[in-house]
Amino acid sequence: MNVVQADQSCEHCHGKGVRLSILKNNLKADVCGCFKCELCNNEGRLFREDEQGRSFMADCECQTLRKRVNMLTEAGLPGKYVRATLETYQPMNNTQKVALSRTKDFLSDFKNRPMDFMGSLIYMGNPGTGKTHLCVGVVKHLVMKLGIPCKFVDFFHLLSDIRQGYSEEKAEKSIIEPFVESRVLVIDELGKGKKGEWALDMLDQFISARYNAGNKVTLYTTNYKSELPKRKKSKMGNTTFVNTADGEYQKSYEKETLGEVVGERIFSRLSENSQFLELEGDDFRKIMMGRTS
Ligand code: ADP
Repeated sequence: MNVVQADQSCEHCHGKGVRLSILKNNLKADVCGCFKCELCNNEGRLFREDEQGRSFMADCECQTLRKRVNMLTEAGLPGKYVRATLETYQPMNNTQKVALSRTKDFLSDFKNRPMDFMGSLIYMGNPGTGKTHLCVGVVKHLVMKLGIPCKFVDFFHLLSDIRQGYSEEKAEKSIIEPFVESRVLVIDELGKGKKGEWALDMLDQFISARYNAGNKVTLYTTNYKSELPKRKKSKMGNTTFVNTADGEYQKSYEKETLGEVVGERIFSRLSENSQFLELEGDDFRKIMMGRTS
């Protein structure tokens, strides 16, 4: 029975019963004020009868919605992706179409698929091609439609939280555990920030712990690619690698591959059982600014 009784004309939730907002830069989900549960009158609990006709208090079905809404807040999605869903993603070229369609395939039948066939997704490509948007869309779908707990983490921020934790004498384990334990995890911006042995060691521990648990699904976004970009065709007709002394060629993700950044050991673990989705194209924000100016 569908107990969601939200107002179709509500400007906040458009009849979905869930209102999204931004709190301290993170996405916050709430049951919308227009939501009315006809079964429990928004009490969340109601009387039921057992087989002998004795009544007992039980959770109302609308608690499913409340639990999922809390789970979505706890996923730690960045606030600026309030509107990002798979439905609002507009592919700008074939690579983006493929990424969207592989993402939808990944979600279809998610609950019934054996873990061996689960795999991970690695979204690669230049900034603004919608890698994080797609991952946020996945999290919203898994939490709200399937009730699967997910977490989102910017790995660079996580490392600074761990460093900060050392100075406050917080155990590293207590900081990373929620992310290591989460059934589904998005690691955003893999490879961003200063590398160094400590950071790579943390990444290795993190990925190994999730991999060894055997029941975890991880999605990654990274600006690094599996291969370095190639220069446009030269006059001779041959494709040559970009000249790294070239002024246009400054960004680190155009100088190194993901394998070089994270090291062979981590890269080979990432590659096992993962789909690499390479998104090409210009920064969506710049495309939109060009259309409005
Ligand atoms: P990336 O993670 O690849 O750097 P983002 O996902 O952060 O890119 O995208 C930047 C902004 O542009 C976000 O607000 C996102 O919602 C939007 N965006 C990017 N690509 C698309 C797209 N194809 N359709 C709709 N919005 C997009």
